[in-house]
Amino acid sequence: MDATILIVEDEKNINDVLGFTFSKAGYKTISAYDGPSGLDMCLNEKPDLVLLDVNLPGMDGMDVCKQIRKTSNVPIIMLTAREDEVDKVLGLELGADDYITKPYSARELTARVKALLRRATSENTNSQPKENSSIITSGDVTINVDRYEVKKNGKTLDITLREFELLKFLAEAPDQIFSREVLLENVWGYEYLGDVRTVDVTIRRLREKIEDDPSMPRYIITKRSIGYYFNKI
Ligand code: CA
Repeated sequence: MDATILIVEDEKNINDVLGFTFSKAGYKTISAYDGPSGLDMCLNEKPDLVLLDVNLPGMDGMDVCKQIRKTSNVPIIMLTAREDEVDKVLGLELGADDYITKPYSARELTARVKALLRRATSENTNSQPKENSSIITSGDVTINVDRYEVKKNGKTLDITLREFELLKFLAEAPDQIFSREVLLENVWGYEYLGDVRTVDVTIRRLREKIEDDPSMPRYIITKRSIGYYFNKI
């Protein structure tokens, strides 16, 4: 496995430990210690995944994330020291794929990195158009499963890998209600670790993109106190 992970973390000992952990797990790692050089490295070295601390000198992790998202869909995991940052980290406009709260276990972080990379890789191997592209249509929304593409009224939407995976999972079983835990396990690819906000926030982001009125969704419906389902129109 020769995926490259960019570690952007100003605390040198944490950066070193992360580098060591992922080298041992068989990845190539590169390190940056402030926001601007992290952004530079991401754009120039084109890593396969970015671990991005929120509190960084020069430019904070959220701004770095926003800047990266202007040109790249590289998987990003935000490292946050505070619980109250989580909502901001997962915010609609930011576009991070995941986050982990310090102190984190190396095992949990490695599991998340692996899951994200696995999905990113299957995206690349599926990027060749196939003859029998499988297409799911509902109302004005068209999901091309093989091409990782979502269109609304014929216009391609700018959608992250995680948002796509979630939409695809729901749309492949229309009208079937899934709990947040089940979605977390199947779409995020790791065992349920106690925080289902990730699911809610990703649903919110998806609605912003595919619904005419995100406050009155027609496609992704909330089943109160149970979960979510995709409505085939
Ligand atoms: Ca820091």
